[in-house]
Amino acid sequence: MLLDGKVALITGASRGIGRAIALSLSAAGAAVAVNYAGNDAAAEAVRSEIIKNGGRAIIIKADVSDAAAVDAMIEKVIAEYGTIDILINNAGITKDTIVARMKQQDWTAVINTNLSGVFNCCKPAAKLMMKKRAGKIVNMASVVGLTGNIGQANYAAAKAGVIGFTKSLARELAARGITVNAVAPGFISTDMTAVLSDKARENILNGIPLKKMGSPEDVADAVLFLVSGRADYITGQVINVDGGMVM
Ligand code: NAP
Repeated sequence: MLLDGKVALITGASRGIGRAIALSLSAAGAAVAVNYAGNDAAAEAVRSEIIKNGGRAIIIKADVSDAAAVDAMIEKVIAEYGTIDILINNAGITKDTIVARMKQQDWTAVINTNLSGVFNCCKPAAKLMMKKRAGKIVNMASVVGLTGNIGQANYAAAKAGVIGFTKSLARELAARGITVNAVAPGFISTDMTAVLSDKARENILNGIPLKKMGSPEDVADAVLFLVSGRADYITGQVINVDGGMVM
């Protein structure tokens, strides 16, 4: 299998896109660590499903915006599996409103989770991968980080930051044989987009050439490719998985 013998840590893997990535990397042979923020039942369900399918999985509750909690999470993965070969920074939140109404805490929470969370996880994982002279990192961006969006200045700023961070880290780690890429989903069916009104949904769908929402599995397929040996010569890229929304 593509990922036989590999160890993957996926943040925000109890639900949505992260869950699909955990299932997909596990089906490809990786032992996975499923990180989440607070939804114990959802994380446990992902672990059970992986084990039922014959895979290996552990769950780790840790807030990615808390650097000390992330360091403890990395230690747990190493204690269980001995190493980390693949890191997927997927955990993310939204706190949408226009800038004129945005509370300071809505700005800070989104930047801390969606951008600083990526830094907090990459730093210890990169140190480990540099010693091994191998590794794959994929960061979850968004097409909104490329285009901007009304009501999402905090989220778009964080995702644009993730793209700049990804390219910088890709340059820093390339000489050690480590690739760092970003995936930018468009409009994907998860809890995050379930809160949108019918009107908002219709407006977004009108701007998608393929005329449908994406599934978490559509995003997981791109991630699986990027962390496999089939993508060894790809680094510092942003792959849009968006039905043609941004081209
Ligand atoms: P989701 O369904 O809302 O799931 C979010 C996941 O992140 C959950 O597993 C949640 O854990 C976890 N999480 C939230 N805050 C966390 C924290 N501080 N520390 C650790 N884990 C945390 O989201 P999604 O739609 O799958 O989105 C996944 C990623 O794709 C995000 O980065 C998002 O920005 C990006 N994205 C999504 C779309 C879309 O259309 N859905 C489009 C573009 C980009 P709990 O279950 O414990 O709460």
